[in-house]
Amino acid sequence: MNKTVHKRAHITSDVAAAAAALKRGGLVVFPTETVYGLGADATSDAAVSAIYAAKGRPATNPLIIHLATAEDTARLVEMNDAAERLARAFWPGPLTLVLPYRPQAGVSALARAGLETLAVRVPAHPLAQALLRAFDGPVAAPSANVSGRLSPTEAEHVAESPLARHVAAILDGGECAVGLESTIIGFNEAGEPQLLRPGGIAREDIEAVLGQPLRAATTPASQPTAPGQLASHYAPRAKLRLNALAPEEGEMYLAFGPDAPMTTGGKAVPGLNLSPSGDLAEAAANLYAYLRILDDTGVDTIAVAPIPATGLGEAINDRLRRAAAPRPAKQRSAPQGEQT
Ligand code: AMP
Ligand code: MG
Repeated sequence: MNKTVHKRAHITSDVAAAAAALKRGGLVVFPTETVYGLGADATSDAAVSAIYAAKGRPATNPLIIHLATAEDTARLVEMNDAAERLARAFWPGPLTLVLPYRPQAGVSALARAGLETLAVRVPAHPLAQALLRAFDGPVAAPSANVSGRLSPTEAEHVAESPLARHVAAILDGGECAVGLESTIIGFNEAGEPQLLRPGGIAREDIEAVLGQPLRAATTPASQPTAPGQLASHYAPRAKLRLNALAPEEGEMYLAFGPDAPMTTGGKAVPGLNLSPSGDLAEAAANLYAYLRILDDTGVDTIAVAPIPATGLGEAINDRLRRAAAPRPAKQRSAPQGEQT
């Protein structure tokens, strides 16, 4: 398929130059273990506002603030016992904690969407760590995709998208190892941990550390509807048909596991297998990249095999349901979905 490469954004490995661009108020795309992030100085209203403009993201949706260490996060939010335990177990890593914001901690109100809570994460990717240390401050960073589209898991995904025009640099860290956005944990008014979004750390692993089951998320009026909770999100151009045991004529198949059919009607099944061995971590890492590849064939419908609901399968199924949900007409009719 024809792809427009927006040459103004430079794919680079120069961390010092990227940190300097952040200091100047610019946008920098950087790899994390989950997906590529679109970073800005979290203390600058102007820089944060450029994130919302570049993504077409509603200003009511707050951003995750990225920091180099758990000690850095404790300066911005009030930790609690459960949060401390989770931070010790999973940071650096694909876990986001939503905690009470310390007033005067300097994070742009725009990044917080005016809330009294703040979402914080310590990413593990060495380039993300290097950038955060070189910048030496909080970096607001949602996924580096146009709102509603698939999150990027390779630097080229961003370079090929209209976002590239808006960024000073794209740090290339190869393919993201986890491939799904972070798991988001918040706390209800009784202080009980709640799963706000399934993601790169399985619920079972979090519950094992907490020693108690996670509550389902309640959405008090004081909290936003997370973009990750919107019905249509993470969507390719093609329609998705879920829980398909085999593709129909004209469909591409996103298969899973060793028992996936290899032929249909005597012909090889067209498509890709997320994990021929049935490994959910491998399937998560491949999910967005494989959806892009199948979408780029121009097919009308991608049939997706059933994925187990346990472990990382909870987040994979969450993203697939949102990708399959009905969406605004303009998204589906745009060629490539992203080229505006
Ligand atoms: P993204 O960075 O695109 O993966 O999205 C960040 C997610 O974190 C969104 O679903 C936000 O709504 C959610 N989030 C950020 N800050 C808060 C907060 N203070 N309370 C609840 N959810 C939040
Ligand atoms: Mg996102």
